[in-house]
Amino acid sequence: MIRKKILVTGGAGFVGSHLCERLLNEGNEVFCLDNFFTGQKQNIIHLLSNPYFELIRHDVINPFHIEVDEIYNLACPASPVHYQYNPIKTIKTSVMGAINMLGLAKRVNAKILQASTSEVYGNPLIHPQPELYWGNVNPIGERSCYDEGKRAAETLFSDYNKQNNVRIKIVRIFNTYGPRMHPNDGRVVSNFIVQALQNQDITVYGVGQQTRSFQYVDDLVEGMIKMMATEDSFTGPVNIGNPSEFTIVELAEKVIKMTGSKSKIVYQPLPSDDPLMRKPEISIAKKELNWTPNIKLETGLEKTIKFFQTII
Ligand code: NAD
Ligand code: UDP
Repeated sequence: MIRKKILVTGGAGFVGSHLCERLLNEGNEVFCLDNFFTGQKQNIIHLLSNPYFELIRHDVINPFHIEVDEIYNLACPASPVHYQYNPIKTIKTSVMGAINMLGLAKRVNAKILQASTSEVYGNPLIHPQPELYWGNVNPIGERSCYDEGKRAAETLFSDYNKQNNVRIKIVRIFNTYGPRMHPNDGRVVSNFIVQALQNQDITVYGVGQQTRSFQYVDDLVEGMIKMMATEDSFTGPVNIGNPSEFTIVELAEKVIKMTGSKSKIVYQPLPSDDPLMRKPEISIAKKELNWTPNIKLETGLEKTIKFFQTII
């Protein structure tokens, strides 16, 4: 068996930890790089005894050298609360992280995948969102450090491919949830479950009629691995998300019901530039990756609720 050497930046985060685990289980050697801004050792503690797993504390805004066959570039805070904490650092992470990792990929001839986001579509005027849509993004708003950073990273990936023949893959990830989200992550699924389990008020922002389409983390990891395995000529971008769409109030009601909680819904101000709707168009993923999401919201929520019950 050929054991590939794979670098996962942001590997101690929510998605990264699941990806590292899956890549190790498939017999690869995994290098997990993280600065622990939003990631935690706890997420990968069970992998530390595996001799084919290495943990590296490093910040992607600084250059890094290692001999690897593949790079998954996930380093970047993903929750609005955390990426808005230090917006200049967030955009530096996306842009300088992309430059450093693309430079590494070029030097060692590694294939490199970028964890991009549905946020490149901004507050979309087309619904559902296909990859061809260029988006509706505010360049100077609360979310811009993340949205524009990720858009610039896509540009860098595309230009390293055209100018230097670096083998790139871009996936645009839609709202993903699951075990190992941080209880203080601030994103909607973890917030609602943590609040419901403690019988605290469920904080719906705005009137809760904005929509999101929620994907369970295992489906995302499967999509990322399938994307990495495609022919070099196929670079994406590809939407990876679950098209089942819910309003935020529907999600709140579902979580209250599934946890048997006494929580009440309270309404708080809607943050600025909060997208009104979001749903992936996934025909490219179906055709090129032979991928569709399999895990229904109820099934994924059940697993996620169980996880939070063990840590709260
Ligand atoms: P997360 O915050 O749990 O993980 C991000 C990881 O990156 C953390 O471990 C963090 O410590 C690390 N990191 C942050 N800045 C870094 C830096 N400068 N150097 C090194 N490491 C750094 O978030 P996540 O949900 O696991 O997201 C992972 C990736 O997927 C991110 O790039 C995110 O933008 C992308 N994404 C996620 C979603 C989602 O719904 N989960 C949606 C779209 C895109
Ligand atoms: N949201 C909410 N209550 C919360 C957290 C989030 O109503 O406690 C809303 C938020 O305003 C947004 C949606 O849920 O409309 C998804 O938010 P999240 O931060 O999870 O991700 P986003 O898709 O906005 O990046």
